[in-house]
Amino acid sequence: MQRLIARRTFVAASAGLGITAYATSSFYLRKPELLDDGAPKRTFTGQIGFQKLTLESVEQVNHNVKRLRFSLPERDAVSGLTLNSALLSYSWPSGALIPVLRPYSPISTPSTVGHVDLLVKHYPSGKASSHIHSLAPGDQLSFRGPLVHFAWTPNAFKNIALIAGGAGITPCFQLIKGILEDPKDKTAITLIVGNRSPGDVLLKEELAKLERESGRRLRVVHTIGEGDGSDEQGGKKEGLRSGRITKELLGEVLSKEKLARDGKIFVCGPPGMEEAVAGKNGFFGWGKTGGILGELGYGNEVVHKF
Ligand SMILES: Cc1cc2nc3c(=O)[nH]c(=O)nc-3n(C[C@H](O)[C@H](O)[C@H](O)COP(=O)(O)OP(=O)(O)OC[C@H]3O[C@@H](n4cnc5c(N)ncnc54)[C@H](O)[C@@H]3O)c2cc1C
Repeated sequence: MQRLIARRTFVAASAGLGITAYATSSFYLRKPELLDDGAPKRTFTGQIGFQKLTLESVEQVNHNVKRLRFSLPERDAVSGLTLNSALLSYSWPSGALIPVLRPYSPISTPSTVGHVDLLVKHYPSGKASSHIHSLAPGDQLSFRGPLVHFAWTPNAFKNIALIAGGAGITPCFQLIKGILEDPKDKTAITLIVGNRSPGDVLLKEELAKLERESGRRLRVVHTIGEGDGSDEQGGKKEGLRSGRITKELLGEVLSKEKLARDGKIFVCGPPGMEEAVAGKNGFFGWGKTGGILGELGYGNEVVHKF
């Protein structure tokens, strides 16, 4: 019995520490404003505790990424997430001593009714991503939120640039879709996405459609960093540039004059890519912008790491 109590105390403390660490780093748990009359009910309101969502459908989108649709408990409710935010997942994979807490940025938007969609990359030794990839329709996963990355205000900037690597596309996609579906928001967006191979490129068709329908407000540039462009994962090379995200590419694609005057640059990707593009993170994410963006003369007031 004592061992059980000790284990539960340890578990609660670990979970608490995990939540606190996530909540106090680059984003925070937020309690959204009260509902307006007639607005859809919000599922996640920053309340204490986790809510279980049921997995409705799963699609394998490439060799290591799945798209998962989770139903909200009430079909006419929205997630309650605000632009731009994530959900914190809680899972207890079999064999793990303590629960695993990991944030995921839905690719559905705050206005999506009845479900949230996640795009999750599987890391072979990854605890949460392996567990999530093992789920089948009907299984449940616990979440809480919203965890706000960046509280987006429509038209706060005239121009934004988003620089994404791999699964780092998810918060960028949520923001792009959210901006473009708000008729009041006129922000112009440039998205630069880096991937290893054509088969790793995520949301290519969805982004191309948003770009076509944006009336030239969205420009998407994909670049492929490794190999000769041939792709053992089965992706297509058309429309993709070759090479990593470099100073030359960012110098060419970004309008420094516009971004420095009234813009913002968001960076989201694996640690190595973020460091190369925007410099090392200091303690709790503080630190001067460095990397390529630093060399190009952008400072902390313009650059935000998701
Ligand atoms: C705000 C936020 C939003 C996120 N949204 C998404 C999302 O929408 N989709 C998504 O797939 N992921 C997202 N992530 C990443 C996610 O939270 C997990 O970190 C990821 O799923 C790995 O967790 P894990 O438990 O499977 O791996 P862990 O058990 O934590 O790590 C195991 C090993 O996997 C490798 N690994 C783990 N994470 C990375 C990484 N980011 N880059 C390179 N190697 C890595 C490392 O080798 C590591 O040693 C987000 C992260 C943050 C901070």
